[in-house]
Amino acid sequence: MDITVVGGGIGGLACAVALVKAGLPVRVLERRSSLPDAGTALGMWPNALRALDYLELGDKIRQVGVAQAEAVFRRPDGLRLARIRPRNPVVLVSRGALTRLLLDALPHGVVKTGVEVSDVDDLLVDSRVVVGADGINSVVREACFGGAYGLRYAGYAAWRGIVDGGYGPSGEILGHGAKFGVTAVEGGRTNWYAAVWSPAGTRFADRDLPELHRIFGDWCDPVGRILAATDESDIIRHDLHYVAPRLRSYVRDRVALVGDAAHAMTPDLGQGACQALEDGAVLGRCLASISDTEEALRHYDSLRRKASQRVAATARQVGRLTMRPRMAFARNALLRTGGLLMR
Ligand SMILES: Cc1cc2nc3c(=O)[nH]c(=O)nc-3n(C[C@H](O)[C@H](O)[C@H](O)COP(=O)(O)OP(=O)(O)OC[C@H]3O[C@@H](n4cnc5c(N)ncnc54)[C@H](O)[C@@H]3O)c2cc1C
Repeated sequence: MDITVVGGGIGGLACAVALVKAGLPVRVLERRSSLPDAGTALGMWPNALRALDYLELGDKIRQVGVAQAEAVFRRPDGLRLARIRPRNPVVLVSRGALTRLLLDALPHGVVKTGVEVSDVDDLLVDSRVVVGADGINSVVREACFGGAYGLRYAGYAAWRGIVDGGYGPSGEILGHGAKFGVTAVEGGRTNWYAAVWSPAGTRFADRDLPELHRIFGDWCDPVGRILAATDESDIIRHDLHYVAPRLRSYVRDRVALVGDAAHAMTPDLGQGACQALEDGAVLGRCLASISDTEEALRHYDSLRRKASQRVAATARQVGRLTMRPRMAFARNALLRTGGLLMR
């Protein structure tokens, strides 16, 4: 019987590639009519690159993406707080390019678009396993893991966009309850994101761009130039949520969760998609190497649940430290001390 993956995002496609690589039959059901061929940048950390290497796509992503060797942290007045050079560079790649690479590694017909899943029991009738890879608002989590698990608002909202051209070094500018980040992305373009501490569901009266100009207008370069180059219709806005409480298991009977469905986290470590890639690759490997389905799923849970939940908890702590207005002084002091020590 097929393994049915619900959701053709990063986690679902990674799982499907791992299963196809092992010669197992798989179908991916995706509700959208087509998969994204654009989108803002995702940082691929070494853990994600290892998962992509396992899927035999690591070299391709390194070719397509842009390696980020350092990040500079500044205050809104331009004062440098720290410059951080990770031991291994992060590879920045747009969601569209990553999706295309994963999709190209699958035989034609594996991904069925325009199919919205609402009944998991139905799928279980003719599936060996159902993989819930259906993102933060997962219907598979809701149906099979119960209503005890929900989403909690992190206390801040984020805006993202991409503009043509380069705007200097990658990094973040950190203010009181607000931050603005800049990274390169393939094609000589620049990816930006902004986050603002705000009550859930705050809607700006008019459009996003004038409000972003109001909040960030007097911040140091290149914030003003990037906002001036941004088209209102290209801005993506999210209230940021995470899954709470932590799931006690990512597996129930013949159903397993991967990615945001299992552990949606705040984006403060840039790890959500990286963890989804790891989940997908590991679940595929477990199902390929252990013939007993229940044992394979148990093994997946033991390898991925605690590890991914630790990352989610750290992301939340980093989010509080960088975003809470009353933490700004302590955060800047920490970054300056850390930056001096790393020189
Ligand atoms: C502001 C921001 C910045 C981020 N930056 C980074 C970063 O730099 N690095 C990083 O690693 N991560 C980052 N992330 C996180 C990353 O975007 C997510 O963690 C990642 O996309 C999760 O992948 P997924 O496959 O689990 O879910 P998704 O990408 O959400 O995919 C789920 C798929 O399931 C489909 N689906 C949903 N319901 C159904 C249904 N009922 N039936 C069929 N299909 C369905 C959806 O259409 C979608 O295609 C960021 C997130 C945010 C909000």
